[in-house]
Amino acid sequence: MAKIAVLERKCTGCGLCQTVCPFGAIDMENGRPQMNAACRVCGICVKNCPAQAIVKLETRAADVDKSQWKDILVYAEASGGRLHPVGLELIGKARELAAPLGFKVKAVLVGQGVDPCAEELRHYGVSEIAVYDDPQLGYFRADAYAACVEDYIRHAKPSVVLVGATSLGRSLAPRLSTRFHTGLTADCTRLELRENTDLVQIRPAFGGNIMAQIVTANTRPQFATVRYRVMDSPARSEEASGGIVRRALPRAVLTSRASCVSVTPLPPRKSISDAEILVVGGRGLVKESDLEMIRQLAALLGGDWAVSRPLVEKGWATNERQIGLSGRTVRPRLIITCGVSGAIQFASCMKDSERIISINSDRRAPIFDVAHIAIVDDLYKVVPELINRLKEARA
Ligand SMILES: Cc1cc2nc3c(=O)[nH]c(=O)nc-3n(C[C@H](O)[C@H](O)[C@H](O)COP(=O)(O)OP(=O)(O)OC[C@H]3O[C@@H](n4cnc5c(N)ncnc54)[C@H](O)[C@@H]3O)c2cc1C
Repeated sequence: MAKIAVLERKCTGCGLCQTVCPFGAIDMENGRPQMNAACRVCGICVKNCPAQAIVKLETRAADVDKSQWKDILVYAEASGGRLHPVGLELIGKARELAAPLGFKVKAVLVGQGVDPCAEELRHYGVSEIAVYDDPQLGYFRADAYAACVEDYIRHAKPSVVLVGATSLGRSLAPRLSTRFHTGLTADCTRLELRENTDLVQIRPAFGGNIMAQIVTANTRPQFATVRYRVMDSPARSEEASGGIVRRALPRAVLTSRASCVSVTPLPPRKSISDAEILVVGGRGLVKESDLEMIRQLAALLGGDWAVSRPLVEKGWATNERQIGLSGRTVRPRLIITCGVSGAIQFASCMKDSERIISINSDRRAPIFDVAHIAIVDDLYKVVPELINRLKEARA
């Protein structure tokens, strides 16, 4: 940890630091610079101070007493009275991580009218479900939601907090980790828990060329976000277990600075992450209209279609259809890739699909390392043939 300090003795009050600060993080008070909350400790003021009156201090975080932080907390996202499936996937992973250490798995739910969601969570093996249910929480507002989850974390002191890497989770988790001055690893693809309760947060880094292992060794709790469809959902048990604990915060705390003026619901959209069957087109396709055969094959199989990134870059499809690190993670029952090379940024986000069939004319294409069935041939021959056979079978 580092911070910026001003040496009063040396400071001439010239104000140059305020001018050069790119974050507007310096206020001049009584002719002396004061760092405000916007300070990113970038050190530009240190470099530019003509009197060398500003210094960057490296401070070592006091070692936390890890024994005071137990259990795993999952943020169970709910909207419109429905649980987001990523919460269940995280509960499944949390249970697996918690068992060897004797930790419990808890969940926190925030919203309005979330009682049915809390009841449903009781079928997934959590020991406690904390519920913040208030009309003020009807729509997601980061400050009010963060206040609720923060309240429960201060109460329950979990060692690990898992949040889905959804739009909501990506807004919530950084706010929470900042409130606890602790680490957050985004978009983890694997999680392991050491005996000393350090969470090993594994995720692709440097464009997917390495798998980084990140540990929050000196602070607690440890925050991680995980994308939808990366972990397995646990089976729903017929028996309900785990207690529901209702918690409330004063109205003033829940009153957000942002108010919701009106809400226009988007038409329900299918996500490729939810598809059971996917047909994927890659740069092996020569022209945009050739995507039609990918769509046709997908339709005949009762599935959806997707693309690799180059096709999004060409403007042939929207980002919502892109599989990969900068797109979506998918785990369908069947995926057929057509003219996709299988670069790590693509393959790492589909390799856990149940059955992978890959069509590529290059037998050395890396996609064949993850494929269960390899078709080394021209996609312009194979795909129309598949379409014809499916049509015949239907007829
Ligand atoms: C930070 C970062 C993030 C990225 N994120 C993503 C991401 O989210 N998703 C993604 O897809 N990529 C991503 N990429 C890009 C990635 O590295 C690859 O460039 C990309 O996946 C390649 O797409 P492709 O396989 O369709 O094309 P190519 O690599 O060009 O492969 C085309 C394949 O088609 C085969 N082929 C050609 N003609 C035929 C034919 N007639 N019949 C059969 N096979 C044929 C070729 O043999 C070749 O293997 C990212 C890169 C970076 C640096």
